[in-house]
Amino acid sequence: MAIKANLEIPLFIKVNQADNTAIIVNAGGLKEGIEFSCGLILTEFIPQGHKVALADIDTGEDIVRYGEVIGYAQSPIKKGAWIREALVVMPTPPNLDSLSMSTNVAIVSPLEKEYTFLGYRNSDGSAGTKNILGISTSVQCVAGVLDFAVKKIKQELLPSFPNVDDVIALTHNYGCGVAINAPDAVIPIRTIQNLAKHPNFGGEVMIIGLGCEKLVPQRLNDGKDDGNILSLQDENGFVNMIQSIVAMAKERLQNLNERQREVCPVSDLVIGVQCGGSDAFSGVTANPAVGYAADLLVSAGATVLFSEVTEVRDAIHLLTPRAATEEVGQALIREMKWYDDYLSRGEADRSANPSPGNKRGGLSNVVEKSLGSIVKSGTSPIVDVLAPGEKARKKGLVFAATPASDFVCGTLQLASGIHLQVFTTGRGTPYGLSIAPVIKVSTRNALQEQWHDLIDINAGKIATGEATIEDVGWEIFNDILEVASGTKKTWADKWGIHNDLALFNPSPVT
Ligand code: CA
Repeated sequence: MAIKANLEIPLFIKVNQADNTAIIVNAGGLKEGIEFSCGLILTEFIPQGHKVALADIDTGEDIVRYGEVIGYAQSPIKKGAWIREALVVMPTPPNLDSLSMSTNVAIVSPLEKEYTFLGYRNSDGSAGTKNILGISTSVQCVAGVLDFAVKKIKQELLPSFPNVDDVIALTHNYGCGVAINAPDAVIPIRTIQNLAKHPNFGGEVMIIGLGCEKLVPQRLNDGKDDGNILSLQDENGFVNMIQSIVAMAKERLQNLNERQREVCPVSDLVIGVQCGGSDAFSGVTANPAVGYAADLLVSAGATVLFSEVTEVRDAIHLLTPRAATEEVGQALIREMKWYDDYLSRGEADRSANPSPGNKRGGLSNVVEKSLGSIVKSGTSPIVDVLAPGEKARKKGLVFAATPASDFVCGTLQLASGIHLQVFTTGRGTPYGLSIAPVIKVSTRNALQEQWHDLIDINAGKIATGEATIEDVGWEIFNDILEVASGTKKTWADKWGIHNDLALFNPSPVT
């Protein structure tokens, strides 16, 4: 696989010795009749990232990638042929009642050197990677007024507080017109509660409510009704509302402006990993490099969250053996079962993932996508499992259950307290979060060239042999420390492109 880049040379990537498939590396794909150095000859054109059969595969026989069965042949596939999506019959998902537990728990050894970053120390002992005034809301009704006030605050006040990075309105569509006591309402509610206390807000709480909503603002303020809450129904008209919000913001900006960055150990960091717009390269370039960086972070004492239940479900048999304890393994299964039930309530199944773009990128089905996705978690033991929106409570590798949807996963990981997210993409998405920086890693050289002012790190050079997984893993690790320290900005932060918060609300809307 590690052949020096020369795109005249036809290249494929075979991940595991047992694989009878490989993916085409060359941009633009390869024509019929092309011969590889091993003697394999293509019997038809195959696009970049799509799979070639390395051997004849008969009807019903296993199609193997990553050393795992990703499907069965629908009809005979000749050696050198394109394994199109339609030729791959999806296997059934692993049975959740017969998984092996804690049989493959790696030993984590500390890194030789101690790594640090420059963060903002909070009074509760946590640290922040940004210094932001976050203004929470208890209901969507206030969003328009708050957006007006935030524009005014950013124009008129923020320039006087140079140590403050940003002012953010945490608006969302929850709060009223919802079944607030339904069992699953706990998910959006704790997400909003935990977001209000994000470590990048420096302990300054400010909540805008309406006054008649179901989610009373005190629930975002430890049950207290104090000066942190402003309800619009208590104000005399619009102009008065804006004046009150601006005055409240000013007090908090003064406090935030006093803060200075200081040296913090890497163990203070909570880093989220995610992928979006994946392709067949995700699992061989960007995701393994992120996995390597995740192992470095865990060895340095940090917390790493990986998520995306629908992209973990079909590879769960590879994760329960890594559960540090039986209890953690059972918690993984609990989250998988919850999601199986959630999908079946909606009369959907796991074939709802992948997306059409994933398929154009060469991913046949969710099994193949999952095998490539879970490598972002590296090799460390899984020490804890968080239900959606729960706050991270342990150091080490943690599974934070979230949907795979980029903005929903991003929002839930923020609620869990991530300081920064590493996001891999093959097809390309300009995704960004306002509360914490997002480092975007491309899976292919072509994407980095096309989106040179959006992609922060290119892992495509792994496919062409110009860098190793370890090289790019260290590049990601070092970039995390620089971005966390504020000495380097991600492209998304440089341009100010950020997605909206998107709550996960599996409970009824009334
Ligand atoms: Ca995703």
